[in-house]
Amino acid sequence: MTRAFLSLGSNLGDRLGYLWAAVEALGRGALLEVLGVSRVYETEPVEVEEAQPDYLNCVVEVEYGASALELLRFCQGIEAALGRDRKGEKLPRTVDVDILLFGEEVLEGPYLVVPHPGVGRTFNLRGLADLDARLYIPGCGMVGELLADASLAGVGEYGEGL
Ligand code: ADP
Ligand code: MG
Repeated sequence: MTRAFLSLGSNLGDRLGYLWAAVEALGRGALLEVLGVSRVYETEPVEVEEAQPDYLNCVVEVEYGASALELLRFCQGIEAALGRDRKGEKLPRTVDVDILLFGEEVLEGPYLVVPHPGVGRTFNLRGLADLDARLYIPGCGMVGELLADASLAGVGEYGEGL
């Protein structure tokens, strides 16, 4: 079993409902156990060309019994089942499920880069810190220390969370 951390994001429709539905779908995976869910953060979109609704984001800690690539496929199946349409990157989406960390693996394949290139974004660091501030990101540093240096602008806690 490998301990992994997933980043969930939604900026379309019932955003909290989509995050929750994704967590439930993850929990139904035969090879997967959900160990924890961070608080929910509301985040201004980054690197998008046109105005978009704010995202809700959270981080989910899981244990997974197969490879990182198989976990990616499983996450993409959940995105598809929840109605994400794949017309293009960086468009509003019902739900995005990314692999932030997969154990201590470092992967730079054509379909999968781990740690995720966006792992250092504040909403990911905050979600990871909720679950384990002492977590080490390969090649990057300890979550708590990275968060201490991060700007908190544009990222706020959202309501009661999931
Ligand atoms: P975004 O970059 O906004 O998450 P997508 O969810 O459409 O956009 O992902 C685009 C591609 O990123 C996917 O087809 C997937 O193969 C690739 N990818 C690379 N590394 C990862 C990762 N760690 N987690 C999820 N997808 C990844
Ligand atoms: Mg993605």
